[in-house]
Amino acid sequence: MENRLNDRSGLILIVDDTPTNLSLLAQVLGDAGFEVAIATSGERAIEQVKRERPDLILLDIMMPGIGGLETCRRLKADPCFNTLPVIFMTALADVEHKVKALELGAVDYITKPFRESEVVDRVAIHLELCKTRLALAQSEKRTETVLNSLREVVWSAYLDPFEIVYLNPSVEAIYGLSPQALIDRPEQWIERIVEEDTPSVKAYLCGTPNPNASDCESFELEYRVIGLHGKAHWLQCHAKIQREASSGRFRVDGVLYDNTARKLAEQKLVYAAQKDSLTDLANRAFFIDKLNQALKAVQSSQSAKVALLFIDLDRFKNVNDSLGHSIGDELLVQVSHRLLKAVRPTDLVARLGGDEFTILIENIYKEEHVLTICDRIQDLLSQPLSVDGYTFTLTASIGVVLSADLYRCADDMLRDADIAMYEAKRQGKACYQLFSRQMYDQVAYKLSLENELRLALKKAELFLVYQPILDLETEKLSGFEALMRWHHPELGMVSPGEFIPLAEEAGLINNIGEFALEEACHQMSQWIEAYPEAAALTMNINVSSHQLETESFPRLVDKTLRKTHLNARNIKLEVTETSLIKNTQVSWENLRKLKEKHIRISLDDFGTGYSSLSYLIKFPVDTLKIDRSFVSTMKSNHSSLEVVRAVITLARTLGMVVVAEGVEDVDQALAIRGLGCDLVQGYLFSKPLSVEQAAEYIQQSRSSILSVGSVSHTYQLVAGRA
Ligand code: C2E
Ligand code: CA
Ligand code: CA
Repeated sequence: MENRLNDRSGLILIVDDTPTNLSLLAQVLGDAGFEVAIATSGERAIEQVKRERPDLILLDIMMPGIGGLETCRRLKADPCFNTLPVIFMTALADVEHKVKALELGAVDYITKPFRESEVVDRVAIHLELCKTRLALAQSEKRTETVLNSLREVVWSAYLDPFEIVYLNPSVEAIYGLSPQALIDRPEQWIERIVEEDTPSVKAYLCGTPNPNASDCESFELEYRVIGLHGKAHWLQCHAKIQREASSGRFRVDGVLYDNTARKLAEQKLVYAAQKDSLTDLANRAFFIDKLNQALKAVQSSQSAKVALLFIDLDRFKNVNDSLGHSIGDELLVQVSHRLLKAVRPTDLVARLGGDEFTILIENIYKEEHVLTICDRIQDLLSQPLSVDGYTFTLTASIGVVLSADLYRCADDMLRDADIAMYEAKRQGKACYQLFSRQMYDQVAYKLSLENELRLALKKAELFLVYQPILDLETEKLSGFEALMRWHHPELGMVSPGEFIPLAEEAGLINNIGEFALEEACHQMSQWIEAYPEAAALTMNINVSSHQLETESFPRLVDKTLRKTHLNARNIKLEVTETSLIKNTQVSWENLRKLKEKHIRISLDDFGTGYSSLSYLIKFPVDTLKIDRSFVSTMKSNHSSLEVVRAVITLARTLGMVVVAEGVEDVDQALAIRGLGCDLVQGYLFSKPLSVEQAAEYIQQSRSSILSVGSVSHTYQLVAGRA
């Protein structure tokens, strides 16, 4: 019913067929400050209610036409007026009608004849009651609107037994059930909770509350609920348990926050912090964390060990370089699947980056067990993999470290596994190596040597020696090859075979190479100045592939020649076959620039790489240097002899000069000469010489090779007899 109670003291409709009653009541109520309307029959009264919307009706029971009771019944049947307070007026003894009236929904009755004050009081009381009820309804409505608009779930329930009494509609978004459905079957409130989270919730909601507990206990819980479509919701519950004064029962009122979105975001972050995004395997940080935990655990164990496998795919770089990163990535993903297949689910497989993987295996009692896993990995990797129409068969080099209680931290163990992996690579790939102390010592030695090598240049511990190269036909000195030496203060003479690769690895080769270039040119220039015949000699200088790949290298050669006043025809650069095979754009461009400056190129160690005719034609070098390994085995190995023969024929055809290096005995020298080789170099003629010795050699070679040392002499004699 629309009500105007708030605006005024109240409009009272008096319904009576007796005019004196009407006027009397109107008078009394009007005097008391109420507005008054009157009707003389039930029919009129209904019309007037619709028109004037009174706040209260005083209704006579006995009237002609539809009586008071029927009038009341009709009004109460209309939803617009069913809350309109009706007070009946009836004779003193009319008990039956009074009962009937109250049954029909009347709020009160007044007995005739009236006492004026009683009429006024009752009307005032019921108007007030009506006002209060209305205010209450409005407040309830407001509360309901607020509760309905919340995203949080507000709930209220009795405990022991658990009985939900209120839920706002937002519960439906979580449970997929209406508030009423949950109120009807409250057990679902608990049943939907994820099993492992149930005990904590039950502890509060399903037990018998402690009657001695304080009257009001707050609690906070976090738990998961499985929603309608099986989706888990993370709920944060804040609630308060209190004993209800009126019923004496314990009631819990609470709010549930749905934290699912935040939890998922958090999980994603944790996931990202632990996982390798490409393969979904554990990442380095997570792996190290787990390895540290495993090492801690193994310290208290008597017999169990922890194994660490460090796996590096062989030649994976080639895939990336030639087929692109997306194929490389896909290949890594497939490799990760195979690695997972090779181990138990409890073993931890990680990708450290690139093509490096690690596996942590705990509870190892027998070394063989780990080695079986290595075999299984090799086996699984060697089965063909196909990506984008390409088929790959992979191998890996695996470093293995076993720890009982030797290792205190993951980094040390990882370092040693890495060392063992490198050893496996060195052993020719596709194999595994168990880490040993010896390997560590070797690496440590290499490292310290590397550090000392950095200082060697400054400390003038590096110098050059010069090995003569002779012309087989004229039997005269043709030139020298400059060879580097390192005089180490403690170790003595360190072989370039040892320190040159080290310098390349450590990025020192450009500095060292620059020193060799300048020193050799300078020396040659001095000899030419001192001995006129030296002007026809050639200084062969070794050039590392790293130098050749450096864009500024031709300029450096140019600058050095100018600085040392040496003619380009007095030097020849020795580049290895393997450095040409690398075939980088820069090295080819550099070779072209050097040729433009008339600098000759000698292909060193020829025959040891993948000799390909096509690049010899593409880039005609001046000299082929037959590798020592062919020369030394020529006698015992027929195919070596054939290689030497073929190289010489090839050089002839392409107009190149051939040098045989490492000639150690007369037979080799004779055979080489027989095959038509141009130049020789080897211990048979001379070992590498110091500056002074080499100067002497130049002077002595003035006349003829016959006079050059006893070894050559022998050669001449033998050659003469042949
Ligand atoms: P390489 O360029 O093939 O040099 C020839 C090596 O064979 C030299 O060893 C030389 O002493 C040795 N040799 C010469 N004749 C004989 C012989 O009859 N029998 C035997 N067994 N060996 C002989 P070395 O001086 O120890 O040099 C080793 C390697 O170190 C060189 O091989 C070269 O690759 C590298 N190297 C030396 N000096 C330099 C340099 O200044 N720069 C660069 N980049 N590499 C250098
Ligand atoms: Ca050489
Ligand atoms: Ca060589």
